[in-house]
Parts: sequence; C-alpha cells; structure tokens
Amino acid sequence: MKKIILTLSLIVTFFIISDASFGQQKGNGQQAKYVFLFIGDGMSQSHVSLAEAYLATQRGVIGNDFVSFSKFPTVSLVSTFSLNSYITDSAAAGTALSTGNKTDNGMLGVDPKGNKFKSITYKIHEKGVPVGIISTVTLDHATPAAYYANSNKRGDYYDIALQLPITGFEFFGGGGFIDPTGKEKNMPNIYKIIGDNGYKIARGVSEMKTVKKGEKVIMLQQAGKEGELPFAIDRKDGDLALKDVVSAAIEHLYSKKGFFIMAEGGKIDWAAHSNDGKADILEVLDFADAVEVAYQFYLKHPGETLILVTADHDTGGLSLGSTKGYTLNLKALDSQKSSTAVSKDSTEAYLALNKKAFVGWTTTSHSGIAVPLYSIGAGSGNFNGRIDNTDIPKLILKSMRIPF
Ligand SMILES: [Zn+2]
Repeated sequence: MKKIILTLSLIVTFFIISDASFGQQKGNGQQAKYVFLFIGDGMSQSHVSLAEAYLATQRGVIGNDFVSFSKFPTVSLVSTFSLNSYITDSAAAGTALSTGNKTDNGMLGVDPKGNKFKSITYKIHEKGVPVGIISTVTLDHATPAAYYANSNKRGDYYDIALQLPITGFEFFGGGGFIDPTGKEKNMPNIYKIIGDNGYKIARGVSEMKTVKKGEKVIMLQQAGKEGELPFAIDRKDGDLALKDVVSAAIEHLYSKKGFFIMAEGGKIDWAAHSNDGKADILEVLDFADAVEVAYQFYLKHPGETLILVTADHDTGGLSLGSTKGYTLNLKALDSQKSSTAVSKDSTEAYLALNKKAFVGWTTTSHSGIAVPLYSIGAGSGNFNGRIDNTDIPKLILKSMRIPF
C-alpha cells in the first residue's frame, strides 16, 4: 500500500512539475506552422528598456512597463558581428538572419566574392508555405531585401527591386521603392514591372480590402505618398502603420498551409542614427503594437504559432543615463512633438532635450553589443540561450520542420 501511495505521489509530482515548466506556453515542442519574425532595426535591449521606462514615466512611476513582446516567456541574446567587422551594417546582418551566413558589411545575400546565398524564405516557399515581407522603410532596403534578393552592393536599389516580382512571394508591404526608375531615372518603371508579373498593387487599407485571397499583392501607402512610412511621432490620419500592414498580411495569407511573415521596424534605426530619443521610443512602441497583432493571432492558434522578436544590431550606442549621476528624466522629452526629420527646429535643440532627459548616445552609427531575441509559441524553446545571428534562420527552419 505504501508503495502504491509513493508511486502515485511521484506521478502527481511529475505532472505538477511538467505543468509548471511547459504549461506557460502552449505548443513549445510542436511544429511551427504560422511564423512571425519581427526585426527591430537597431533595437538592442537599451532601446526596449528606454521605451519601457518611458511608459512608466507616463504613469508617474519609476520602472519598466513591459511592451507586448517583453512579456514573452523565452528571451535569448544574439551576437551580431559581421565577417569583416565587429560592428555590422544592416546588409551583413540581414544576410546572417535570412541565410545563416556571415558576410562583409555592404553585401546582401552574397559572400564577399559575390557567390549567392539562399534566403530561408525560398526554402519555406518551396514547401508550399506562403511568404510575406514587410517593412516600414522601402522594400529595397537591406533588411527586407535580404529576404528575397542578392546583391554585391546594398545600394543598388533598382537591381534589388527587380528581383522582387520574380520571387512569387504572396505578400509584400511597406514603403515602396527608392529608385523606381533607376538611379539615372531612365529605366522601366518598377511598379509597372511588378504589375506585369501578376502582382496587384494595393494603396492603403481600403484598396487592400478589394484584393482577393490568393492574389499576389504589394501593399503600399495611399496614393500620392511614396517612400517609407512616416515616423510614428509624425503620423497623420490615413498614414499606414506597421500594425496595419501586419494585420492585412495575416488576413491575406491565413490558410491551412501556414505562413512565414518577416516584418521590420526599420525606422527605429533611423531615429537612432539621428540620436532622436523621443522618435526612437515611439518607434519601438509602434513596433510593439505590430507584435501585439501577431500575439492576438497566437492566442487563437497557440499550438501552431511561433513569434520571434529580435534586432539586426544596435544603433546609436544608446544608454539610459549619461555623462554623470544617477538620473533619468524622460519627462524632459514631453515637449517634443515631431521627429528631427520633419521639424524646423535645429538638431541641436533635440540633442539638448536628450541631454536634459539623460538619454545618452555614443555614436550616430551602429554599435556591436548583442541584441535580445524574445519568443513565444511552437518551437520557441529552440531559441533559448546565447546564440549567434546565423543560428536564427536555422532554428526557424528547425521549428518549421524544414531542412536547412
Ligand atoms: Zn542603421
């Protein structure tokens, strides 16, 4: 009798322990069918912490108010160095994140000799899984381009754009193209080429609603607006936000086949290059709103959905606290109502505000510190620990049960 009781209590204990370890996120060991990869360009942990501290300040308290993805149960740290520099650019980092290979800064989806690597999006697409590629900056920019193009020069925007319509990927969305008719403005218009290759061009949320499921589509801003989406701090009524595009992509791509969606918050990086603290914070919060849309999808499909949130590198060498002392005074940013990009105020005025807030910047370029990776859902346990950026695409395919 004693033996039976002991055995029973061991079994009960086992189930209690299993529930505690695995119960928090459903489907951790299952195959990932719906996969979201969110890349905050330039968003190292200091950018996330600053946004969290800002939210707490808005409530009048000291602390970190978590954003959508900081609540995710798995957190890891990712090395970002490139093949020829400890400090990567977005092209080499994008190549690592999309193909699992390091390369030199400036190179996109190719090794330093120009030999092409294959993005995991192609391997996913070959298995019949629809692919969506989204960015708040233009689609020919390094991060989104790394998921469909190969180029020896990340700045060959027209050549990169020409590679988009031949992918056959089902959904593109975001900021259009930098050189729609080439650097010399003498080449065939890229929008026409995309249309000729069977893509619908949907401008704004309302036009997107008229696109039939199964049609290949590129979703851009409303007519009359070209180029990247505005900074969150500068957004006007009718402007697209990242969350609108992610929402549209989910609706358009959702089927029994699953999907892979890469969505980039590209302007976190731009705000940080300008050392513009307030614009940076609002970009991170906007990016978190887009992740929240994916999280709501995860709640409906917890056993089959994987959400990953990471960055390609740090931008700005951002610190919370600067020069001397133990103060962070984010209230000082309250008076700022627009980004440095559109404001008539001098850049010096913004830098002075950041100083007053004790938001520190050490560079107007990138820095080499590791970046966080937050994850939840099917296969997220694969991403735990101290990893390299080249591990991420390999682990995505592993989670989807697709060979690398
Ligand atoms: Zn950058």
